[in-house]
Amino acid sequence: MKAALISIGDELLIGQTINTNAAWLGKELSFRGISVEISWTISDQPAEITSAIDFLSEKADLIILTGGLGPTKDDLTKHTLTQYFQTELEIVPEVLGRIETFFAKRKRPMLEVNVQQAALPKSCTILHNYHGTACGMWFQKGETIVISLPGVPYEMKGIMNDEVFPRLNQRFTLPNIYYETLMTQGIGESFLAEQIAEWEDKVRAKGFGLAYLPSPGIVKLRLSSKRGDRDKEEIQSLLQEIKDQMPKHAYHLGEMTLSEYLGKLLLHQGLKIGTVESCTGGHIAELLVQIPGSSRYYEGSIVAYSYEEKEKLLEVDHHTLQTKGAVSEEVIVQMAEKGREVLGVDVCVATSGIAGPDGGTDEKPVGTVWIAVATENTTFARVFQFGDNRERNIHTTALTAMNLVRCVLEGISFEKK
Ligand code: ATP
Ligand code: MG
Repeated sequence: MKAALISIGDELLIGQTINTNAAWLGKELSFRGISVEISWTISDQPAEITSAIDFLSEKADLIILTGGLGPTKDDLTKHTLTQYFQTELEIVPEVLGRIETFFAKRKRPMLEVNVQQAALPKSCTILHNYHGTACGMWFQKGETIVISLPGVPYEMKGIMNDEVFPRLNQRFTLPNIYYETLMTQGIGESFLAEQIAEWEDKVRAKGFGLAYLPSPGIVKLRLSSKRGDRDKEEIQSLLQEIKDQMPKHAYHLGEMTLSEYLGKLLLHQGLKIGTVESCTGGHIAELLVQIPGSSRYYEGSIVAYSYEEKEKLLEVDHHTLQTKGAVSEEVIVQMAEKGREVLGVDVCVATSGIAGPDGGTDEKPVGTVWIAVATENTTFARVFQFGDNRERNIHTTALTAMNLVRCVLEGISFEKK
C-alpha cells in the first residue's frame, strides 16, 4: 500500500511550526507496512489542496491531509473537500452533541464557529475526534482513500489511533506486527547504538526490526516482528538482555514515562519523595504530579533559586556557598539533606546547575549540573555535563534526577565521577 501525505499550513511553510505530523505519520505508517512515498507541505489555499489531491491520487492508494480544519481558518480544508467531492455539509447531531459536551465540561461558551464544526460532508465517513472539536473525514476517490485530519498533533494522533488504523486493518491485510519497547534514560542514541552493536546485528539477522526513538533525555528502543505474537517471548527476552546489560539507563520493558515508573517504585517501597530545585525551577515536581495519584508518594518541593533563598530556606552554609559556588558537590549535598528534613520525606532529590545560555565559566561551563539524592542511609551526588540549550538542559536534568532516584532505590550502583 502506497501513501502520500499533505501537510497544510502557511505556518509550516514559513518555519513557524515544525511539521511533526508528517514525521509521526511517516514513522507510524511505515511501521505498519504502508509505504510513504511522497510528503508535501502546501499553503492554506483551496487551489493548492485540490491540485495536490489530483496529482497524488494518481500515485497513492492512501492520501492523508492534516491541517486547515480548526475554526480559526474557517475550516478551509473541509469546505474545499466538500466542493471537490461534490457533496454538501450537514449538521451531524451526534458530533454537535459531543462538541457541546466538550465546551460544557470546560465551562467555555460555544461559538457559532464551533457549531459549524459539526457540519460535515454528507458523502464522507466521519472519523470521530475524542480529543477536540474538529472531526476527521474519510473519502473515497476511485481506488484512493483520502483522509483529512486536524493539524493539532495530539488530535491528529488520537484520530489515527482511534479511527484510522483500525479501519485500515479491517480493510487491508497489513502485516501483523508485534513490538515491544525498552525505555532508556541518560544515554544518547548513537552511544546506545555503539554499545549494543553486536546485539543489533544479532536481532537483525533474526529478521526483527529495530528502531531508536529518541526524545530529549529518553531513547526508546523498539523491537518488532512481522510474524506477530509468535515472536513475543523472543523479543521480550532479547530486550531483557539489554536491560540487564545497562541497568543504570534501561528502566522499563514496555512504554512508560520515568515519572510513572518512579511513582510505582515509590509506592511499592512505601516511600515519600520531595524535591529541592534550583536550576530545574520545579520541573521535577511538574513531571511527578502529571501522574494521577502522585499525592500518595509526592510530598512537595522547595524551589530555591538564589543564594539567599538557599541560605534562608535550606540553611546552606554561607561560607560554602561563597567559596564553592551553588553548583558544587558541597552545596548540593546540603540542599538534598536539609530538604529531606524540612519536607519530612524519605527521599529528597536536589538539583543545581548552569542551564545557560550565559553564566558558564572555564571551570563550570554551561550545562554543568549537580544532582544529589538523600535517603535515610546515604546521600549520593553526581555532576553531569549537558549541552548549551537552556530548555533541554532543564528537562534533561529533571529526567536524570528521577533516574538517579530510581537507581538509588533499586540499589543500582552509579559509580561516582
Ligand atoms: P490555526 O489558525 O490554529 O492554524 P487551523 O484552522 O489552520 O487553525 P489546523 O491547521 O488544524 O487548524 O492547525 C491547528 C494547530 O496545529 C496549529 O497550531 C498548527 O500550527 C498545528 N499544526 C498544523 N499542522 C501541523 C503539523 N503538520 N505539524 C505540527 N503542528 C501542526
Ligand atoms: Mg492550520
